Amino acid sequence: MKKYDYIIVGNGISGNFLAHHLLNYDSKLKILIIFDDQLIPASELNAGFFTMGSFSFLEKIYNEKPWLISILQENVLAVKKLAKSLSCTIIEKGSLTIVDYPLTSKVNEFFDSFEYLKEKDSWGKINGVYNSIDFSANPKVFLNSFRKFNQQRGVEYLSKSILPGDSSLSQGKRVLFATNGFTQNTSLNKFGLAVQPQRAQIQEISVPTRLGASPNIYHPEHRIYFRFIENKMLIGGLRTLDSKNENTTEMEVNEKIQTALFDYATKFLDEKFSFPSEQIKINNQWSGIMGFTSDELPVVKSLEKNAYYIGGFSGHGNGFSYWLTRELIYFLNNSNKSSQYFKHFYLK
Ligand SMILES: Cc1cc2nc3c(=O)[nH]c(=O)nc-3n(C[C@H](O)[C@H](O)[C@H](O)COP(=O)(O)OP(=O)(O)OC[C@H]3O[C@@H](n4cnc5c(N)ncnc54)[C@H](O)[C@@H]3O)c2cc1C
Repeated sequence: MKKYDYIIVGNGISGNFLAHHLLNYDSKLKILIIFDDQLIPASELNAGFFTMGSFSFLEKIYNEKPWLISILQENVLAVKKLAKSLSCTIIEKGSLTIVDYPLTSKVNEFFDSFEYLKEKDSWGKINGVYNSIDFSANPKVFLNSFRKFNQQRGVEYLSKSILPGDSSLSQGKRVLFATNGFTQNTSLNKFGLAVQPQRAQIQEISVPTRLGASPNIYHPEHRIYFRFIENKMLIGGLRTLDSKNENTTEMEVNEKIQTALFDYATKFLDEKFSFPSEQIKINNQWSGIMGFTSDELPVVKSLEKNAYYIGGFSGHGNGFSYWLTRELIYFLNNSNKSSQYFKHFYLK
């Protein structure tokens, strides 16, 4: 039976970052990524914002954990560099974030300290507009290029549904679960993990002409976000409209939320671009599963000897997973010594 230094369960952004950091640490490591191909990773289904998080999230953390801002910023810049090196098409101008409530002066101050954010365009007239030092990319394209890169560096991939205790896991000296919102499917809840699945709806709408606008728009108050791609628009959010039914790992479409998203989009496009609603149509609609924690911060948990879980990214996986996976690898390779901030995320 072939032996591996690491078996990683999960083929999303976190699983692939774990492999990436491991190989940066030691390029000779033997790594196997196992994934259940019926459980499509959120990393393939998301809206493609590589951001430090929503404004509501930044507001929340700024007072309690101001040091998180620089971590998130470091994360986004590092992923941008990787995406560029993988030749992914990225929208670099960042995402214009519309907020329609006053930001705390500290958060305001932080964003105002960036020179280029002062160039606000007409989108700013809606309310406060800020750029959260991010970018966007097609998540599936990014992930597939990333997997290919890992594969070229020797990572093996195996499609198989797995549970802790599965005999094939004994092929690995260490096992890392990067299964995010699928803790129920992996029976990881028995280890006391408080990561709950939350489904998120998203739809792609085609609009009559190219919008010509590169900005991404995140509208935190309504928990709605838009992303414009030529003459298409992605719209997602509104989970709170039917939160009970969205507390699931079923990848179904929620009609109530999808209808509300479409109504919101047609109204927005009418007000902003005078697009007649009959010319706007839905191309595609889908959902994905996120892993939520009560404070919306991810966790690393030791499960049993030489097995760990990393996840609970609470809708901010693109903006967080590079950093936290790197810290976990540092921890494992330095006899459980951690860097300054890792302890805030690590549950023994
Ligand atoms: C609709 C939607 C929009 C989003 N938009 C954004 C956004 O714009 N920006 C942002 O930062 N974040 C966004 N997110 C959140 C982001 O996608 C996630 O935080 C991130 O992708 C989590 O990555 P992950 O690798 O930890 O988990 P996932 O990508 O979910 O990967 C989990 C992996 O575990 C595997 N797995 C699970 N159980 C088993 C098992 N029993 N056996 C084997 N394999 C198993 C799955 O097959 C999968 O490969 C969005 C999420 C959704 C659903």
